[in-house]
Amino acid sequence: MNLCDLAVESIAGLQPYVPGKPIEELQRQYGVRDVIKLASNESPIGPSQAAQAAIALATRDLTRYPDGNGYALKLALSEKFQIDANQITLGNGSNDVLELIARCFASPADEVIFSQHAFAVYPLVTQAIGATLVEVPAKQYGHDLTAMQRAITEKTKLIFIANPNNPTGTHIPATEVHTFLQSVADNVIVVLDEAYIEYGDEEVNSIDWLKQFPNLIICRTFSKAYGLAGLRVGFALSSPEIADLLNRLRQPFNVNHLAMSAAIAALGDEDYLQRAKQVNTEGMQQYIDGFDAMGLNYIPSKANFICVDVNTNAADIYEKLLQQGVIVRPVAGYGLPNHLRISIGLEHENQRCLEALANSLSEAK
Ligand SMILES: *Cc1c(COP(=O)(O)O)cnc(C)c1O
Repeated sequence: MNLCDLAVESIAGLQPYVPGKPIEELQRQYGVRDVIKLASNESPIGPSQAAQAAIALATRDLTRYPDGNGYALKLALSEKFQIDANQITLGNGSNDVLELIARCFASPADEVIFSQHAFAVYPLVTQAIGATLVEVPAKQYGHDLTAMQRAITEKTKLIFIANPNNPTGTHIPATEVHTFLQSVADNVIVVLDEAYIEYGDEEVNSIDWLKQFPNLIICRTFSKAYGLAGLRVGFALSSPEIADLLNRLRQPFNVNHLAMSAAIAALGDEDYLQRAKQVNTEGMQQYIDGFDAMGLNYIPSKANFICVDVNTNAADIYEKLLQQGVIVRPVAGYGLPNHLRISIGLEHENQRCLEALANSLSEAK
């Protein structure tokens, strides 16, 4: 008996999400001591001190279950973003929310639209429920909203848009997203995944659109600019009706007490956010200058990472970087076999990465 045959067909066919290689794993496998990881779009500046202090305080309550309604975090979010608490769904990372959305709105008879080179979790959650994947070819590595609009059929239930997108870093201007939303009927749910929104300079606030579009869901996270990836906190903003549905499906205690306490503190730590953005802007320029000097093309990015075209099979360069203690992210699985995605680090980390890249490329010649 092959146990895989017992699994639901859609699950047996899944390819697991491939995370960035952990630092300890590289140390074990290669015996390299001094490792830098620029592979998972994590904050390079360490967690907010306010968040750390909040966690220390919150450890006193660890014998209790967390607040299953997330009252305090929802209150903080509703004040910060000027929305009602009943429009918020909390998740164990925004991945959790993305999965809730797929389970809530799509069934095996439905189609789910997403872009080529978009975040891997969209096809993963779609496939898990057995719905039909509709991947729309990208335009200059980014979402082609016109083509995505044309891909809508009677069976379309859900459209995922990452803005900025991961792994390409491409950004769609707010006016284009707004026009797209106007062109989509109310019975199709549009998910705007804004995991990297804090790094951009977009002046239009997408949250204002929730009043106009009852079918819109905005997903955000504490994992990137807020520097709390290890705690797993994300959230969706939507109409109260959608939030009500998602909250029925949510596990009662899906976000833990330490995570919620830290998220509230991080949300109030404006200095941290500004520093994170500043370090990111400077690091991004460092990579652009470095790539230009090496004559490498890259995809212009509005996020905290950049995809560089290494002009050869990137798997070899990835391996050579590992040998030098530098972990980046191969993106062949996203249809980009010659690119590597590099998360923006601290100045000395970026420097080391660029040097290791130059070494690897000259070795590969
Ligand atoms: C990192 C990322 C997320 C957030 O994941 P979490 O589960 O909140 O850590 C969501 N969407 C995209 C596009 C991402 O890159």
